[in-house]
Amino acid sequence: MKAPRFDYVRATTVAEACALLAEHGPDARLIAGGQSLLPAMNLRLASPSVVIDIGRISSLDGIDVRNNVLRIGALARHETVLRDATVALHVPLLTEALRHVAHPAIRARGTIGGNLAHADPASELPACMVALEAVVEAVSPRGVRRIMAEAFFTGLFQTALEADEMLTAVEIPLPSRPWFFQEIARRSGDYAIVGLAAVGTRLAFFSVDDRPVLRTRSAALELDPPSDLQATGAMRGHLAGVLRDRALLALGSEA
Ligand SMILES: Cc1cc2nc3c(=O)[nH]c(=O)nc-3n(C[C@H](O)[C@H](O)[C@H](O)COP(=O)(O)OP(=O)(O)OC[C@H]3O[C@@H](n4cnc5c(N)ncnc54)[C@H](O)[C@@H]3O)c2cc1C
Repeated sequence: MKAPRFDYVRATTVAEACALLAEHGPDARLIAGGQSLLPAMNLRLASPSVVIDIGRISSLDGIDVRNNVLRIGALARHETVLRDATVALHVPLLTEALRHVAHPAIRARGTIGGNLAHADPASELPACMVALEAVVEAVSPRGVRRIMAEAFFTGLFQTALEADEMLTAVEIPLPSRPWFFQEIARRSGDYAIVGLAAVGTRLAFFSVDDRPVLRTRSAALELDPPSDLQATGAMRGHLAGVLRDRALLALGSEA
């Protein structure tokens, strides 16, 4: 299928993108890598009247460490972050998790900001950000807002972003603690049936609910995962327990 008709505008600055969002209202959608939005439009699951292209705002693709914080710009591509030596040194959990995100062609276009804003409950990165106690930076005509990752993901494909707000960066506090990442998927590159990103005592499960689910190591693993064509809820619950046991074994008393 082809996408329904839409108007296209390209923003060259964050201020311009926010102003365009404010002008066009909830019918407008930003487009970054297009790897989730375009399939959704082609399947007619999304039909924005205006698509605002932020892909060329070059100030948003940086990766740097300052004051013990790793900052990744919203437009950093998955493949760039996966290959970045600073990320691998400071937050190897992200490097490992990104190996499981889709395939090279999709990673070459998909962006960190687009992935987090899309808020797919089966996606690796939202759970990583929750485990890492990351902070999402959002900009609107009213200014800058910082939102803890734990509060950012509010439901199935839902975030705390307002209609005229744009995600501009994610910030991860350093140093990173001992970590663990594993997912169970049918094939390499598929979305996970169940996955776990753990940092220290924080265990963030994905693909078990409508958003990442945070548990501490000491808490009982009470989950109520959904059933779908990939797995029953009971199977997901069992696999989550398997991943939790592997994480506890791998992290030992380090965490
Ligand atoms: C075949 C296939 C397999 C995939 N497998 C996986 C997988 O295993 N794991 C995984 O995590 N992902 C997977 N993806 C999704 C991929 O990672 C996407 O790149 C990512 O989810 C969205 O990033 P994007 O830059 O392409 O966003 P876009 O498609 O451009 O946008 C996605 C949504 O985010 C909004 N948005 C984009 N940027 C911003 C911003 N800066 N601020 C606010 N809103 C914004 C858009 O308006 C849109 O609603 C897969 C995609 C495909 C096509």
